[in-house]
Amino acid sequence: MKKHRILSIGLLLTAGFALLLSIQSISKKWPHAKAALVIIPEKTVTLTFDDGPDPRFTPTVLQILSDYQVNATFFVVGQNTAKHPDLVRRIAAEGHALANHTYTHPHLEEFQKDQVVSELTAADRIMTEVAGRSAVTPYFRPPRGNISSNILQSLKLSGKQMVLWNVCVENSSTHTPEEVRSRVMREIRERNGGIILAHDGDLDRSLTVQSLPLILRDLKQEGYRIVTLSDYLEQQTRKAKEDIGFVF
Ligand SMILES: [Zn+2]
Repeated sequence: MKKHRILSIGLLLTAGFALLLSIQSISKKWPHAKAALVIIPEKTVTLTFDDGPDPRFTPTVLQILSDYQVNATFFVVGQNTAKHPDLVRRIAAEGHALANHTYTHPHLEEFQKDQVVSELTAADRIMTEVAGRSAVTPYFRPPRGNISSNILQSLKLSGKQMVLWNVCVENSSTHTPEEVRSRVMREIRERNGGIILAHDGDLDRSLTVQSLPLILRDLKQEGYRIVTLSDYLEQQTRKAKEDIGFVF
């Protein structure tokens, strides 16, 4: 009996270690793939937008979100916030959440701890100045999803919580709004929901803006709940405590 138990524990440990190794190798190859391992218990998604605000795309994204009556989280870049404070105030005024995507969108994974902390602090400071403390959430997403031990250690110092994503709207394999919608919906159905990442700044995001209404229509028709990021994370914590991928 005792032998059996030791053997079972041994097997569990080996399996756990193998899983960790595979997660590590997956993350090295596809840094954004980690969250794909998490199964969502209910048909729930949350929308996030990175790299804005950008006057070319953010107003259109806000209009679409308003048309579909959904809220999203905007991981804004500090220097873009400084350039377009009115847009950031509009994001907050329309009921969306603001989150930290660094001040200059650097290769943060190459930074020392104090540099990471100053990027995060500067981004929080400008968001707070522009939109008020209550609009700023504790969430942080590293540029390109790249992580380092310096970043992980700096999160505690900065009081931030890292959030990655499960499904990305932008992908070089899809070139029309219909193609984007099919791929994104397929990926969402595969895991019954997830954290959706789209971009409203930096590069040309016309395809994102054209695809977004199609995706939102499908989500609503298929009965997905579209919730805020904090509600989504709360649900995940409650229902799946082993959140090994997207929250640290
Ligand atoms: Zn980014």
